[in-house]
Amino acid sequence: MGAGEVLVQVAGAGICGTDYRIWTGERGVRYPLIPGHEFIGDVVAVGAGVSRVAPGDRVAIEPNWGCGACDLCRSGSENLCLARTAVGIDRDGGFAELAVLPERACWAAPAGVPSDVLLFAEPLAVVTRAVERAAPRPGETAAVVGAGTLGLLALQVLRARGCQVLVVGRTDRRLELARRLGATSTVAGAGQPVADEARRLSGRDGADLVIETAGTAAAVELAVGQVGLVRPGGRVVLTGLPHDPARIEFFWIVRREIDIRGYMIYREEFGQAISLLAEGRVRVDALLTHRFPLAAIDAALTAHRDPESIKVAVFPDGSAG
Ligand SMILES: [Zn+2]
Ligand SMILES: [Zn+2]
Repeated sequence: MGAGEVLVQVAGAGICGTDYRIWTGERGVRYPLIPGHEFIGDVVAVGAGVSRVAPGDRVAIEPNWGCGACDLCRSGSENLCLARTAVGIDRDGGFAELAVLPERACWAAPAGVPSDVLLFAEPLAVVTRAVERAAPRPGETAAVVGAGTLGLLALQVLRARGCQVLVVGRTDRRLELARRLGATSTVAGAGQPVADEARRLSGRDGADLVIETAGTAAAVELAVGQVGLVRPGGRVVLTGLPHDPARIEFFWIVRREIDIRGYMIYREEFGQAISLLAEGRVRVDALLTHRFPLAAIDAALTAHRDPESIKVAVFPDGSAG
């Protein structure tokens, strides 16, 4: 451990689609590599010059940072830095008992935030900025496409911003959970029935804003397509990472002045996300559906693809229960 570095004993690590794609080989990385970027732990030791955290601190890890020197970084767009470092992708991450991280990646958590809650800091930081990109105003109608971890978090952040929220998902079980977490309305499927529900709920020609979290071509088409969710003049934020091309008729984008905003992780939102969790303003207890010991990580990654799972996490110390 060098100057400015922190040794963290990992307390838990969430699994997301990127980890799954690394595991299957769809996403290339340079091995040897320990993946895992959504994790929390306890500071064991700190290198020379570290002042942000101290041994014993419970920390959540912010796993991305820019080079700090390029034009994008210096203009405040660190998340877009072409030389960005991503923990668990470019350097060793949290599917381990111990991890070494630069001081800047470590956020001391307020006392008393349970591990199962703090684990959501990273995905909630993603969602916090995504919602910000959509510029929601109180009273507006928002549609969230996808009822996974990101969708169910986005729903809650949008409710906290005073929006009524329509959640579009695939399974009844998740849509029921969405209603329990505050969704004004939910709908399954695609096409006209979904567009009709957006109209009914908004009392306008579609939702004022749409946040796409599923990362599939069908979800993108639902968000911005001709028979889609967004009203003329509305905003669409794309936060899932669609790896397949979507079929969009841009005629309708132009005619309806649809504002499509791409979106990539976070900039300043990590601390905000930890505060939202610490204050209990976002409920995550029902989202952590599967817990595994670290030694059973293969089973955990398999469970990530189970339609019954929302967030799967691994726990090195056996607290998986
Ligand atoms: Zn992730
Ligand atoms: Zn940079």
